Amino acid sequence: MKIFKDKHTLQKEILKTKGISFVPTMGGIHKGHISLIKQSKKSKLKTLVSIFVNPKQFNKKNDYKSYPRNTKKDLKQLKKLKINYLYIPTYKDIYGFKPKKKVFLDKFSKKLCGRFRKGHFEGVLNVVNRFIEIIKPRYIFLGKKDYQQLYLIKKHIKKRNIRSKIVECTTIREINGIACSSRNSNLNKKQKKIASNIYYYLCDLKKKIKKNYSLFKMNKIKKDLIDLGASKIDYLENYNIKNFKKIKKTNEKFNLFFAYYIKNIRLIDNI
Ligand code: AMP
Repeated sequence: MKIFKDKHTLQKEILKTKGISFVPTMGGIHKGHISLIKQSKKSKLKTLVSIFVNPKQFNKKNDYKSYPRNTKKDLKQLKKLKINYLYIPTYKDIYGFKPKKKVFLDKFSKKLCGRFRKGHFEGVLNVVNRFIEIIKPRYIFLGKKDYQQLYLIKKHIKKRNIRSKIVECTTIREINGIACSSRNSNLNKKQKKIASNIYYYLCDLKKKIKKNYSLFKMNKIKKDLIDLGASKIDYLENYNIKNFKKIKKTNEKFNLFFAYYIKNIRLIDNI
């Protein structure tokens, strides 16, 4: 595994390859990231993983500061996975140049997480656009856990005629049902149990509303979630994941999207 901190040295190296399979991360490597990396390795191209906690996508300074970081542990795991390249850029390496393409921000960026985290998706698309320009990856592996992010990146790539192909990867979960996430390391045992109970409650709710949509009663559901131990609910909404139209009846295929807090830890998922 070769480690790069500077884009020029990285670019020199990847020019020699037949193409790159790219797995962008913010570190805190977990089973979700590992599954993306394993899929990337199947592509037969060289796998490049990046670790960059992008300050521009955090709307709260404290959230950026408390975001779990553990480079030493990450390095150990990535070495074991035998990835080809690891890129850990500095802020200047990413933001010290003007990208050729402008970010395309689809209007769906104003919904769900975009409503509650002002500037979040502008920050995500900004950094992804820059990574794409530096690396020019053939494939980019993204997780469905962050479905809205995945959808918006796909829209940007299409609109800007970028040749990278997005590979959508299934959400990997802990044994207790909760989606693997770097932020889970901030949860204590009791809080993990709360997150698990909420996950199973929402799975059950989805099954019920599939049969009878009139059971989707927001006030009652929010109260139940608070009773289960959630501190605050940001959103809980159903969307058709093909076109991101809100669903009104049950004969459509939909995902239930949710974001909530346990104390000050924000968790997002979709089922
Ligand atoms: P992050 O480090 O949280 O920015 O995530 C980096 C990539 O890993 C993104 O494409 C995420 O969607 C993906 N990812 C995060 N958690 C999971 C998970 N539990 N299962 C699958 N992919 C995930």
